[in-house]
Amino acid sequence: MPSNWREGRSTGIKAATAQHVAALASASTPAEIESAFQAALNDLGRYRSSRHRPIHAAMVARGLELCAAHPRGGFVPRFGAGRRLHVRGEVYRVGRGQNSTGVRYVWAYAERWARARMEDGGLSITASKRVWGSWSDYPHRALRVIEEFDAGKHRDPVMNTLIRQPDSRGPIRCEIGEDQDRRAHRPCECGGTLFDWGCGWSSRIIPLEWRCNRCSAVFIEYVSDERLRAIRTPSHPAGAA
Ligand SMILES: [Zn+2]
Repeated sequence: MPSNWREGRSTGIKAATAQHVAALASASTPAEIESAFQAALNDLGRYRSSRHRPIHAAMVARGLELCAAHPRGGFVPRFGAGRRLHVRGEVYRVGRGQNSTGVRYVWAYAERWARARMEDGGLSITASKRVWGSWSDYPHRALRVIEEFDAGKHRDPVMNTLIRQPDSRGPIRCEIGEDQDRRAHRPCECGGTLFDWGCGWSSRIIPLEWRCNRCSAVFIEYVSDERLRAIRTPSHPAGAA
């Protein structure tokens, strides 16, 4: 092995890194940033964080530039000096939090604030969640979510409406009054009774399953947590809308 092998190899990596950084800096769409970023990861290896630092920095910097130049880029949160979080021209000061729990809390509040600004501006709950999930590490991905939303993706499901599912699982054995769990219930179109048959875990768009004791229909109703609480409060057992 030649004595200058190491040096030669590291010079090669430096040149390759510079090339990838240049490709990221000249990317003109979120998709171009993503493909330049993936090309760099494939080329430099995925698990060497010190090599990736300039790549990540260039990817984030170019993503922020595209957001700044994009008519809807203000939807992508930006965090800067004085712990200020910017969304659509409004500013929120993020607290410090004294320990890891406190930090989680202040960022939970920041998320609530930021997503409300996005949703005030017309973004769906689904899209605001996706934007929040990527803005800090991958701003170009957050911008791509907004472009996709504008093209008709990431729409919220219809809320508070029974949506019949393609699968049917046979009637359940459950009768009003004999039901130990005192499930919420409501009339089914077949003349039977639909019962609250459990819900998925989610925040703000919760899928609640209703099943009938006479027919084999399965319905999903997407509800907010407030509506779920109202449905399951014993004084409103019929799931009154
Ligand atoms: Zn039915």
